[in-house]
Amino acid sequence: MKGYIHSIETFGSVDGPGIRYVVFMQGCPMRCLYCHNPDTWEIGKGREVEAEHLISEYEKNKMFYRSGGITVTGGEPLLQIDFLIELFSLAKARGIHTCLDTSGITYSDCNTTYCAKLDELMKYTDLVMLDIKHIDPIKHREITSRDNSGILAFARYLADKDIPVWIRHVVVNGYTDDPEHLKSLGRWDACLWCQMLPMNET
Ligand code: SF4
Repeated sequence: MKGYIHSIETFGSVDGPGIRYVVFMQGCPMRCLYCHNPDTWEIGKGREVEAEHLISEYEKNKMFYRSGGITVTGGEPLLQIDFLIELFSLAKARGIHTCLDTSGITYSDCNTTYCAKLDELMKYTDLVMLDIKHIDPIKHREITSRDNSGILAFARYLADKDIPVWIRHVVVNGYTDDPEHLKSLGRWDACLWCQMLPMNET
């Protein structure tokens, strides 16, 4: 299967554990005011690649990625979920650690077809890095042009499934650095995953 990618970073050190092969997927429905790569926004642009090709490129330098693996980021990688399923299933068949870096904006628990695909992708995903742009719904819309209710529902989905998650939050002066909002984000984060502990322990 072919996917549309923006670019590749062969020595990623900030997008998951260890040194990683980072695939920047093309296309994003968000419009973050502080986006550092708006050239990833347009859907259907970018370079067409086969999932197999990315794996073979990874394999050429796999000694460097012993403590790392593959990360998909963007853009918004979940826009190309079928491609991710193939890429991550190929990676897991070779014992490669897989990480999905996402805003979660594509999640909709009403869409059963999409949820089935997400369930399939999670079988091959070792870590999700979930980028919460803002915990406050009004501020979130101001900053990204999109509502955050689906994103927070996606976080609940991940917690329910016991998927390992790193929460990311980009601190931008004047946009996302309000101390009260940061505390709210921390409380929400702690609440969501602490509530899961008793369930996991029983
Ligand atoms: S989600 Fe990422 S790629 Fe998309 S607009 Fe926001 S910062 Fe840019």
